[in-house]
Amino acid sequence: MEAPLTSAPSSPRGKIVAQAEELYRDLSFGAVRRWKAAEPGRKALGYLPVYAPLELIRAAGMLPVGIVGGGDMEVVRGDACYQSYICRIPRSTIELGLNGALDCLDGMLFPSTCDVIRNLSGMWRMMFEGRYVRYLDLPQNFDPAVGGVFFAHELRALAKDLESLGGRPVTDAALREAIAVYNENRAAIRELYDVRAREPWRVPASELYLVMRAGNVLPAEEHTELVRAYLAAARAEDRRLQDTARVVIRGCFCEQPPVDLLRTLERSGCSVVDDDWLLALRWFDADVPTEGDPLDQLVRAFLSRSPACPSLYLRQGKKGDALLERVRETAAEGVVFAAPSFCDPALLEQPMLLNAVKAQKVPCTAFQFAENTGQFQVIREQAGAFADSIRLA
Ligand code: SF4
Repeated sequence: MEAPLTSAPSSPRGKIVAQAEELYRDLSFGAVRRWKAAEPGRKALGYLPVYAPLELIRAAGMLPVGIVGGGDMEVVRGDACYQSYICRIPRSTIELGLNGALDCLDGMLFPSTCDVIRNLSGMWRMMFEGRYVRYLDLPQNFDPAVGGVFFAHELRALAKDLESLGGRPVTDAALREAIAVYNENRAAIRELYDVRAREPWRVPASELYLVMRAGNVLPAEEHTELVRAYLAAARAEDRRLQDTARVVIRGCFCEQPPVDLLRTLERSGCSVVDDDWLLALRWFDADVPTEGDPLDQLVRAFLSRSPACPSLYLRQGKKGDALLERVRETAAEGVVFAAPSFCDPALLEQPMLLNAVKAQKVPCTAFQFAENTGQFQVIREQAGAFADSIRLA
């Protein structure tokens, strides 16, 4: 039986999803432009996947803007900058920069996710001279006396930069306020994920993704409102339980799958109960304390509450433990490994995750995608056969 994919456009839920989809499709970042135009002097800072200190950016008075490539936009000049065996997100990001879509940003932050993003930061510096660019090194040592000291130093240096760029000091009070606002936002997102894990037929993957994605361009409090409004509408609407296979998706932590790919998975009989999309918006799995030195609290949260992710060294346990834990927590019946083509971190981690799930006899399947994948028939057949094999077992 097919899962419902779209809400009636006139329903409260349908209107929220339509608003979120409009933001998703707007590659000129109109929401960011409107936010800046509402008050003279406002600044916005773009950040690439996977993690960025959103609280620090907000505390400097700036809007953090998540940049996750250009989807299915045509890429011409961006292609000229990269070899054919590199993922697509850097090419489309360059295209967005060259076509003026990112002119609304006053700077760009490139976190140390992988070599591709490191290279992109260097190219950005050369191609967009005069614009603020920072490569943000994230610790791979989770000892507070080593990685913690290093990361605090990085964040303090970034704060100094942002103070100059935003024209506003990053005070402890501003940082505490920002932490509280993002705690609220992450709490709403956790609730959304919990409801989806319990009753995936109420929260289709494609709708959850669009509502989440709005968080890339909206101020955190507006996004919290959107998530809560969606949750209220989803709870109020009567949707029937579906005979689908409950699956966890892994591999899409950086370059994002097209929303139509998510709809294809649903049409093929898979209900997604957990995923690794848009991790920057839900990086910490618990509130960051607002007492004490707020910057130190962010550092501690990074060291102890970061999600398992292909670009992070595993500080304890082994690769696959966190995935198996989520499989248990969400009562998933299978795992779908969906990695972007040529994504070294995701594809190098995949064999270890595969071994872990196979050892526990959790059914799994794997395919690759690109943000501009437009043909879904093969994926639909593969995912459909996978869902059938689970349901008929
Ligand atoms: S998709 Fe993978 S390889 Fe490409 S920039 Fe992201 S992490 Fe790096």
